[in-house]
Amino acid sequence: MKYKFEHPIISRIGTEKYKCTVEWRHGKFITDEPETSGGKDLGPDPYTLLVSSVATCTITTLRMYIDRKGWDIPRISASVNMYFEEKDGQKVTVIDRDLDFSTPVTDEQREHLIQIAKACPISKILEGGIRIRTFAYSENEEKEKHTYTNDEITVAWKPELCRHAARCATQLPQVFNSQAKPWVNMDGATSQEIKEQVARCPTGALSLEVKPKA
Ligand code: SF4
Repeated sequence: MKYKFEHPIISRIGTEKYKCTVEWRHGKFITDEPETSGGKDLGPDPYTLLVSSVATCTITTLRMYIDRKGWDIPRISASVNMYFEEKDGQKVTVIDRDLDFSTPVTDEQREHLIQIAKACPISKILEGGIRIRTFAYSENEEKEKHTYTNDEITVAWKPELCRHAARCATQLPQVFNSQAKPWVNMDGATSQEIKEQVARCPTGALSLEVKPKA
């Protein structure tokens, strides 16, 4: 199992209703709720972000396809909206996507473009199986610490902060194996691989104790 993002997307909120900051690869942006929901509308709300991801993924995927085909379609737009309905006692989310091309397309091209739009990565995610796992942490939980070392680095592990079902063990099993004793084998991978895995631990349970020797 490998995460899509090298660093997770981090969102934070304080007491200002309902301004959130979201950290992504190259900076931050703000999200908020509309005034009707008690926010100040300083940025897109979560529904807007969800629908935007469908719209932008669709037209980006189409742009790649159109360029590969060498078709002369300089502009594409996607108008996307969503609604909810009840079906067989279950709430179903319906997302409608209207594509508009700046130049005429043949019926055959239109059919291809619709199929490509349907297969964009975000559409696949939303129409496939999704599981959202939730873990909760708070500060000042540290009580105990174990250290593991090789010639170059020392990894510290704080059990009280460890909250996943061995997430690191599924990503770097040569090093992190909850069935073994000790469960961290510092000879199982290079120091660089171990450092990268430690950096992926979102709870702070894993950390580097000693900087690499110069
Ligand atoms: S990634 Fe961190 S919190 Fe998750 S299982 Fe490994 S040590 Fe524990």
